[in-house]
Amino acid sequence: GPVDDPILRVENLVKHFGGITAVDGANFQVERGSITGLIGPNGAGKSTTFNCITGVYDPNDGAVVFDGTDITGRDPHWVANQGLVRTFQIARELPEMTVLENMMLAPKNQLGESLWRSVVPIARREVVDQEEQLRERAWEMLEFFEIDHLAGEYAGNLSGGQRKLLELARALLTDPEMLLLDEPMAGVNPSLEKKLLSHVHELQERGYTFLLVEHDMDVIMNHCEHVIVMHQGTVLAEGDPADIKSNEEVIEAYLGG
Ligand code: ADP
Ligand code: MG
Repeated sequence: GPVDDPILRVENLVKHFGGITAVDGANFQVERGSITGLIGPNGAGKSTTFNCITGVYDPNDGAVVFDGTDITGRDPHWVANQGLVRTFQIARELPEMTVLENMMLAPKNQLGESLWRSVVPIARREVVDQEEQLRERAWEMLEFFEIDHLAGEYAGNLSGGQRKLLELARALLTDPEMLLLDEPMAGVNPSLEKKLLSHVHELQERGYTFLLVEHDMDVIMNHCEHVIVMHQGTVLAEGDPADIKSNEEVIEAYLGG
């Protein structure tokens, strides 16, 4: 339903693949500064919705409005430049490049005063070389996620959880305002999961907005203030975690498959 200050509005979104309707008129809004959960059984259309929002797919119908700008059908790079980035269910790091090299491939905005820069004041030096400035920020990000010791390691040698951290670090390097995370905890061990979640909360305090697809109900219920439930390509229910947990239709959708 409508929220006070929507940073993202998804309106009557439709996506077909041949005869399959993956997204079938989805409607929802995401409150600025929130951690919002997007859940639903396998095949509900969550990843396709992410792909339509971020320009990986062109929707057949409907609109996506980010921060007041219609971004429907724009390509991922353009969308990222507006401040909206996503991570993938399967991490997309290049295995034969090092962690630092992967970071340096991040699509980058103008290296101006980013949200990140404004909340992490570091001694400003005269940096003339853009590449050097990007490298410096890449290091900051790797330090924040405590994977800086892996900077010279091939990405292919990282654990699943470390790759998820790298992907999040790389997404942040694009100066986003909002991040869509598709199953960020998949393959992440419990101690790394705890760390990742605390980073998400820390980033929320700094002003970032999160839309999170996650299978682990405990994660959703304990870390999201608002939960949207998709089923068969549409929004079945939404509300705070307690409402969702006790919603009969939601329980039925999960049990009924
Ligand atoms: P979820 O992420 O909620 O598990 P998806 O968005 O991945 O769901 O999939 C929704 C439906 O669309 C499924 O039936 C899936 O098989 C189908 N689908 C997703 N991507 C494609 C694609 N590229 N080509 C054909 N069908 C797809
Ligand atoms: Mg999915």
